[in-house]
Amino acid sequence: MESGFRSNRQQLRRDPCFSNSGRRQSRSPSVIVIGGGISGVAAARALHDASFQVVLLESRDRLGGRVITDYSFGFPVDLGASWLHGVCKENPLAPLIGRLGLPLYRTSGDNSVLYDHDLESYALFDMDGNQVPQELVSKVGEVFESILQETEKVRLEYSEDMSILRAFSIVFERRPELRLDGLAHKVLQWYLCRMEGWFAADADTISLKSWDQEELLPGGHGLMVRGYVPVINTLAKGLDIRLGHRVMNIVRGYNGVKVTVENGKTFMADAALITVPLGVLKSKSITFEPKLPSWKEDAINELGVGIENKIALHFDNVFWPNVEFLGVVAETSYGCSYFLNLHKATGHPVLVYMPSGQLARDIEKMSDEAAANFAFTQLQKILPDATSPVQYLVSRWGSDVNSLGSYSYDAVGKPHDLYERLRIPIDNLFFAGEATSVNYPGSVHGAFSTGLMAAEDCRMRVLERYGELDLFQPVMGEEPLVSVPLLISRL
Ligand SMILES: Cc1cc2nc3c(=O)[nH]c(=O)nc-3n(C[C@H](O)[C@H](O)[C@H](O)COP(=O)(O)OP(=O)(O)OC[C@H]3O[C@@H](n4cnc5c(N)ncnc54)[C@H](O)[C@@H]3O)c2cc1C
Repeated sequence: MESGFRSNRQQLRRDPCFSNSGRRQSRSPSVIVIGGGISGVAAARALHDASFQVVLLESRDRLGGRVITDYSFGFPVDLGASWLHGVCKENPLAPLIGRLGLPLYRTSGDNSVLYDHDLESYALFDMDGNQVPQELVSKVGEVFESILQETEKVRLEYSEDMSILRAFSIVFERRPELRLDGLAHKVLQWYLCRMEGWFAADADTISLKSWDQEELLPGGHGLMVRGYVPVINTLAKGLDIRLGHRVMNIVRGYNGVKVTVENGKTFMADAALITVPLGVLKSKSITFEPKLPSWKEDAINELGVGIENKIALHFDNVFWPNVEFLGVVAETSYGCSYFLNLHKATGHPVLVYMPSGQLARDIEKMSDEAAANFAFTQLQKILPDATSPVQYLVSRWGSDVNSLGSYSYDAVGKPHDLYERLRIPIDNLFFAGEATSVNYPGSVHGAFSTGLMAAEDCRMRVLERYGELDLFQPVMGEEPLVSVPLLISRL
């Protein structure tokens, strides 16, 4: 191990910047950004603007990562992120979204029990297609909130962590009146299903200690009506981006890093900024020389990564109620369904079915056609006269080797500081991405901020080594932010 590293270090001194051919041209500090999602392009943009030589290596043939706006229906549909969580000027993405004039459709205000939805505009049905009375849904929503409050007491009493599901059963033992039956029980399961969707994980794996530790920005949640990808494209303009470059090996030495991609090509720089998803780090498909320290490996292994998928169904016409979302209630949260009505926000006849956790995993085993049929069958349960979709799109975030999961969450028994441990740099390797965000994991704005933060850490560290801290532009803070109000609507 030691001798291998020494020979790599010797190689690092010989090899020029960014490729294995030609000599290093200038003294500008150089960085390799690995991964072209929001955190990667934000970091690359910031370092490029701070006069660094930057190359961004992205394994897919597109940028955006878990931000992907598909146009095959003839209009934009997001198959990854679609909400701006926190429609407010404090949101780090607000200046950019405002400047681009991208409209938002707000689906909820602050503190909704359904996170990104208010119970203002919805229709829930049972499996026989009978609509659940609105008063019952609201009443069960209050019970659900009471149960969550009771779990707070359980958390304080038990020193050991437990799953949110186990905490629910303790609450039911203590407060039997909160245990519902019949239709009300099914509605409660639907609330649980939405909570599981928020974490992209099943309730028996979500940590009681940490489930409410993440922060929410104020202003509620707004759908990006024209899709999220314009944000990525704007940040990426003019950068040196190499698509189809899957990183396999990262060697770090005193004088720099050497990064090898799948076809054997190597890239050299002063530092590397790693933004690949947590699922990819877990899979160990990228090898590090020398090995990452054990506390970093533990953070990678212990932080949870969940699955949420989207199955977008495009219809000829709108035959469903004019509400923001439709739901099917069932005996278990696994059997419940949720459809986002994009027609409300965008005017296009599209419903997006969103399974998460084990259900999402099971659906990923099906072909695209079978998955779309499965979603349509759920819809037919509540709307028997539904006409078949004319087109569909199916995401596979769990099995896609470029993501291997949708976003991170706190698993039972694991400390919340894992996000921070994942972020902390090692020598000249810097880490960014949603799973390194302590306050806003699992979000686009959280990932964006980590990209900027890692870029700033990297800039400081590299320039310190160059002894030229004053020579280059800071990554953040000097350019005055133009404040353009967000365009928010509720049609
Ligand atoms: C279905 C779904 C719905 C979501 N909904 C929302 C939402 O509404 N609002 C919200 O704020 N957030 C949402 N999120 C979360 C949000 O999309 C992510 O938190 C964010 O986009 C992650 O950005 P990132 O830069 O950390 O990672 P990514 O976007 O995953 O970027 C990492 C990049 O690394 C690349 N890569 C992987 N392996 C390699 C390799 N070996 N070499 C080179 N490159 C590699 C990947 O291809 C990818 O482009 C959602 C996510 C999903 C999956």
